[in-house]
Amino acid sequence: MDLVTLTQLIVLILENLKVKPRKHDLERISMAIAAYLLGVPITKLGIPPSTIYYYTRKLGVRKRREIRPNCPSCKSDKVIKNGSSRGKTKYKCNVCRRTFYDANSRRMSREQKERILKEYLNRMSMRGIAKVEGKPLTTVYSLIKRKGIVAYVNLLVLQEQLKSFTAKVTVFDESWTYLRVRHGSKRENLWIWNALADGLPFFTTGDRDYKTFSFLLNSLPKSEVNYTDDYSVYQVLDNHVASKKYTYTVESYNSYCRAHLARLARDTRAVNRSERMVDYSLALLNVMYPVIYSREKTPLNEAYLRGVQNIRETLI
Ligand SMILES: [Zn+2]
Repeated sequence: MDLVTLTQLIVLILENLKVKPRKHDLERISMAIAAYLLGVPITKLGIPPSTIYYYTRKLGVRKRREIRPNCPSCKSDKVIKNGSSRGKTKYKCNVCRRTFYDANSRRMSREQKERILKEYLNRMSMRGIAKVEGKPLTTVYSLIKRKGIVAYVNLLVLQEQLKSFTAKVTVFDESWTYLRVRHGSKRENLWIWNALADGLPFFTTGDRDYKTFSFLLNSLPKSEVNYTDDYSVYQVLDNHVASKKYTYTVESYNSYCRAHLARLARDTRAVNRSERMVDYSLALLNVMYPVIYSREKTPLNEAYLRGVQNIRETLI
């Protein structure tokens, strides 16, 4: 169907639906929709994509389907999706019935995966990485999420093993980051609770209440002394000292995390849409770039470094 015919058709339908656009005229919008449906990139139509999507939805038309590969045997474009295997989409030709994979969708190399993780842990946003690496945002997102889950789960196991040690000093602090949106009434704060046990970082995320704090407490080895600020939930700690004497170390761990993860920085547009992604990201950071905030070598922090090294090897 040609552009003009399609446009006229769309005008008729929209009139029938009693759609009266306020800003653009009906003809103009109809033509943009027609062009979009015929394959013109939505950003090149002179009308904001959101407007076009809005009226396209009114027509009951879904977003344009993605470009599919042609059949390698008969070159037909009558191709449908036909499930997936090992993460790759399978296609089926409706003419000759051949099933095939898209030859252009190469899997990511180990090097590229590692580079993406490093970029992510050096303050790049997922959007930025997607652009630089020439990969879809969803691919970047799912890679980081997948690796983050591996790091997170393995860290919990390691923390369980470290409970047989006793730390000399543990220092606590809590800070917050944006959740869902940065500004406006929908904004929520996500609290990140940090502890350094003999300089080893431990964290948990959630509300600023005892329940969240108790998760952190459960992951920690016993400690001879606990330093905190004077926030009330800390009163449950044994051997507790409310003093600012050592809290600068946790604060510096905190700013280390902010410096490495765009989602935690206060001056970027990156925002946490999911609470879990914060956990996964922090776990990734702890595994890929381990730091210890103590000059002393103790059996505890040596066991930690060995453990983290093992996790890093399984990760990449
Ligand atoms: Zn075919």
